[in-house]
Amino acid sequence: MRDYRELSLWFDQLDEPLTARPSLDGDREVDVAVVGAGFTGLWTAYYLQALDPTVSIALVESEIAGFGASGRNGGWCSALFPVSAATLASEVGDDAARAQYAAMRATVDEVVRVAAAEGIDADVAPGGTVVLARSQPQLARARHEVAESDRFGLGSVLLDADAARGRVAATGVVGGTYTPHCAVVQPAKLVRGLARVVEQRGAAIHERTPALAIEPHAVRTATGTLRAQHVVRATEGYTARLRGQRRVYAPVYSLIIATEPLPDAVWDEIGLRDRETFSDFRHLIVYGQRTADGRLVFGGRGAPYHYASRIAAGYDRVPAVFAELEQAVHELFPVLRGTALTHRWGGPLGIARDWHASVGLDRTTGLAWAGGYVGDGVSTTNLAGRTLADLITGRDTELTRLPWVGHRSRRWEPEPLRWLGANAGLRAMTWADAAERRHGRPSRMASLVTAMMGR
Ligand SMILES: Cc1cc2nc3c(=O)[nH]c(=O)nc-3n(C[C@H](O)[C@H](O)[C@H](O)COP(=O)(O)OP(=O)(O)OC[C@H]3O[C@@H](n4cnc5c(N)ncnc54)[C@H](O)[C@@H]3O)c2cc1C
Repeated sequence: MRDYRELSLWFDQLDEPLTARPSLDGDREVDVAVVGAGFTGLWTAYYLQALDPTVSIALVESEIAGFGASGRNGGWCSALFPVSAATLASEVGDDAARAQYAAMRATVDEVVRVAAAEGIDADVAPGGTVVLARSQPQLARARHEVAESDRFGLGSVLLDADAARGRVAATGVVGGTYTPHCAVVQPAKLVRGLARVVEQRGAAIHERTPALAIEPHAVRTATGTLRAQHVVRATEGYTARLRGQRRVYAPVYSLIIATEPLPDAVWDEIGLRDRETFSDFRHLIVYGQRTADGRLVFGGRGAPYHYASRIAAGYDRVPAVFAELEQAVHELFPVLRGTALTHRWGGPLGIARDWHASVGLDRTTGLAWAGGYVGDGVSTTNLAGRTLADLITGRDTELTRLPWVGHRSRRWEPEPLRWLGANAGLRAMTWADAAERRHGRPSRMASLVTAMMGR
């Protein structure tokens, strides 16, 4: 059995025994069965209980609550949505795109509110996000983003070099953007706290109980079958493991490193006084946060996509990617050269072929789903949970009318095309960043790949 404390810094910091709850033992009938006890499954249970305290809910989880991306992520609870507002508007119209993004902003506040209301101490700090521009092409992307933000009322502002450096004193900063719509969280404390709350309100969480198949009104496991009026698939990056679902989401890995707690003198040099989350406008995504105990946590994509959507514990740790992340941190903050790294980890997230997150319920089969959040699920799962609760209880609300509800993405290509395409896209983004660093001009390769990937 895996030592769950090794999953992430966040799990290592938990002040609770990480023993599994009892597995499903025999057949059971409930109103709602949920597969996966990450944020999606648990928020769904939470809001169902809020709407109807008598509803009976059982969750089955392969490992323990929070085992997946929910207990391992970068802790950005942001208003980001995987499809840009302009792209969404071109598909569903301006008003619907605005509504989706307004719901995302409100979701950040909702997560902060619930954590406080339920007494879940998840080291939450609503400090916003700074995205640095560290070259002229990056500055052009910052301007473009603020223009889009102005068009859709998203709340991002352009920072000049001094203002950006005043928040994050990285090297080479020529400007940036700031949005207040992000809170930093300790994700394992949040997801595990949420599991405790829904359990106290009567939901059963059966851990170390992998679902073998999801069927209309039933979840089959090796130790019993859950029968339910509604079944929620909340397995995101792991969905490919379920029978018949291999091409729904591509599991793509994101990896993270964490430093030891840093002295105040070092933080005085780096900044992040409000515990803002931070990134820069390079193509291959990186993300960072200052933790409550004064560490720098820094992650990024760059790990390979694995053939046939395979997921394995060994893929969480890729030494070459950790080395690149460490180099990127040193390049951003030379003061950190010589600082010890205490934790290195990673995990899979789910990407739909058209990059859309979606949530929905098929009323004829009772099957509900949510996922495809790319790397923006910490908040989006909460919106998904509220929306699924409304759908399952038959409510027609502002949430159930958002454009991501019922959206169907096309499936990924069969192998080897999926493997070739995903890894070529990854390489192209790395080359694009290197070319921009060398030549100081925007990369055409990056725009081409973005267009091909359907973002
Ligand atoms: C390294 C990393 C960094 C990230 N950083 C951020 C960030 O900073 N901000 C952000 O917004 N998003 C981030 N994300 C994405 C975010 O964490 C996810 O979108 C979100 O946690 C998804 O939640 P979920 O509940 O849908 O899926 P998960 O948390 O992955 O939960 C799915 C659960 O289902 C279980 N499961 C799988 N198959 C079965 C089965 N057959 N039977 C029973 N149980 C099953 C798994 O064990 C798992 O616990 C990051 C992701 C990763 C991996």
